[in-house]
Amino acid sequence: MPVPYLPAAIEPFKWADRAAHVVADLPLASFPRLCEGLNDHEGVVQVRCRLERESEVRHVAWLRGTLETVVALTCQRCLEPLALPVSVTVDLALVHDEEDAERLSDDTDYLVVAEQGLVLAEILEDELLLAIPFIPAHESCELKVRTLEVSGEESRRENPFQVLAALNKPAAKE
Ligand SMILES: [Zn+2]
Repeated sequence: MPVPYLPAAIEPFKWADRAAHVVADLPLASFPRLCEGLNDHEGVVQVRCRLERESEVRHVAWLRGTLETVVALTCQRCLEPLALPVSVTVDLALVHDEEDAERLSDDTDYLVVAEQGLVLAEILEDELLLAIPFIPAHESCELKVRTLEVSGEESRRENPFQVLAALNKPAAKE
């Protein structure tokens, strides 16, 4: 039976022996470091993960699965809101120490973890953070610079009123 929530802390190697699944829709708000960079904390993260062993490498527990969510960012090109779908494939080897890690193939992502007290939420949050682009932008949108130029012209047109307002100020003081 899959676990329908994210436990506070787990024993990763025991969970892998049991081939434990986590199938949970978690509020975005339960990932505080991720939320720090978002405009909106509404929404859920769909967690579909499992811990498992591969019989040929007994010293490793594999954390595998997917994370799906939509995050509210600001497009760095047009400066309008950007609802960015984020889809992460997790494939992480959990090992007891660096010695075990050396036995993994070079391209394997791994994490040295303790026998117990593994906070799964933090690992998943790291994976989500890595998937957020450094400079988020719509796939196609107009550069905001053009709009800024237009508003620049508008403010120049408004200038005569600003001059009038400035002229009126001394009068208002008297
Ligand atoms: Zn944009």
